Amino acid sequence: MYLICMKGYYNMDLTSPRTIRNIQEQFGFTFKKGLGQNFLTARNILEEIVDAAEIESGVIEVGPGFGVLTSELAQNSDKVVTIEIDERLIDVLDYTLAEYDNVKIINEDILKLDLKKVIDDEFNGEKVSIAANLPYYITTPILLHLVQSDLPISTFVFMMQKEVAERIMASPGTKAYGALTLAVQFYCTSEVVMDVPPSSFIPRPAVNSTVLKLVKRDKPAVEVKDTRLFFRMVKMAFGQRRKVFTNAMKAGGISAEQGKEILAACGIDGKRRGETFSMEEFASLADAWYDLIHKDKE
Ligand code: SAM
Repeated sequence: MYLICMKGYYNMDLTSPRTIRNIQEQFGFTFKKGLGQNFLTARNILEEIVDAAEIESGVIEVGPGFGVLTSELAQNSDKVVTIEIDERLIDVLDYTLAEYDNVKIINEDILKLDLKKVIDDEFNGEKVSIAANLPYYITTPILLHLVQSDLPISTFVFMMQKEVAERIMASPGTKAYGALTLAVQFYCTSEVVMDVPPSSFIPRPAVNSTVLKLVKRDKPAVEVKDTRLFFRMVKMAFGQRRKVFTNAMKAGGISAEQGKEILAACGIDGKRRGETFSMEEFASLADAWYDLIHKDKE
């Protein structure tokens, strides 16, 4: 499986369907759909992901699979820490990544791992990038977990379902616009790197995919007096998506009288649906609510 040249060994071509089959046979490995195991087989996509990640020195990967993206990251960084939940893949990765001495494999669930400790221990607390072909069954929890954290992460480059990428990039008043849009856009800027068809994976997923680049903002997109109130307003709006906002606020525990005061303070028409509000409008609603709570306390 290795080709010997003047300089030493060429990397194993993990994008090759034949190599993937050989590894499967050698390790008796079968794909687990429940873990979102769709492995990349297109080299140009790996290169796009690595370029977009703007790695300064260190990079963290979620879900290495057979290590196809990991090896590309290893060639373009000082250090890679890669986190894989599936115990069966650890022996495979020891084999496929044997030639890299700058890769650390952690057998853990990304949602349970203490990433702060990993960044402190492995990267001296310095800023890292994160790159991943995400397991689609937990894309949203992973995204929210990472973008809302105060970890020193500068750039996230994630392959995800196209539909989730569209929700992140959506504009007010569209069907795709929602709590996920605001949660990500509050903390990050976002841009589409590329769309990826099912034919770029083994096995093929049932959906189209998109690589999205998210860059953590130095400070949130809008200034608010209390972040929790901002996200409670967002939750009210999208928990009761079809209701006009006056009614959504009532259902969210704000009395009719308080609701009227909040809306008047921001000059927002309560007959509008919350799904039409911009991030700035949510911020002014949250701040008016904050002022009301604190006025009531005086
Ligand atoms: N990076 C490989 C590639 O691009 O071919 C594999 C990507 S595959 C879409 C997702 C990977 O994430 C699988 O290896 C899967 O086992 C792993 N995974 C699933 N859930 C995980 C979790 N909670 N924490 C860490 N890894 C997870």
